[in-house]
Amino acid sequence: MPKTSRKTFLTKSLYLVACLSLGEGALSLTEELMAETKPSGPAPEGLKPVSESDPTAKALGFHHDAKQTDFTFYPERKEPTAKNHFCKHCAQYTKLNEEWGKCNIISAGVVSSLGWCSAWSQKT
Ligand code: SF4
Repeated sequence: MPKTSRKTFLTKSLYLVACLSLGEGALSLTEELMAETKPSGPAPEGLKPVSESDPTAKALGFHHDAKQTDFTFYPERKEPTAKNHFCKHCAQYTKLNEEWGKCNIISAGVVSSLGWCSAWSQKT
C-alpha cells in the first residue's frame, strides 16, 4: 500500500471540504426554490393562463411554476442570485392579484406570479 504524504492528505481533505460546501449551497438553493408553491387559485375571471406551449413562451423557456425551469438550458436560474427571480418581481409583470398577472412579452394570457422565463429582468 502506497504511503500518503501529509501534504497530499491535507490537499485532498481541503478539496473534499470545498466540494461538500458547494454541494450544500446548491441543495439549500433547491430547497428555497422548492419552498415556493405553484399558484392554486384560478385565473382572474375572463382571463386564461398562457399556454406553456405558446411559441413565445416556449422560446423563452417559460413555466408557470419556476421549479419546472430546464436548468440545463438556463443554469443561471439556479444561481443563488436568482432565488427571487419570479414573474412577480419582473419589470414586465403587472399584478392582477396575488397569484396572477399580465406580462408585456408573453401576452397570450396571464402568467403566474411564481413563473419565470429567460426574459426576466428586475422590477425597479
Ligand atoms: S418576461 Fe417577466 S413577467 Fe414575463 S414571463 Fe418572463 S419572467 Fe414572467
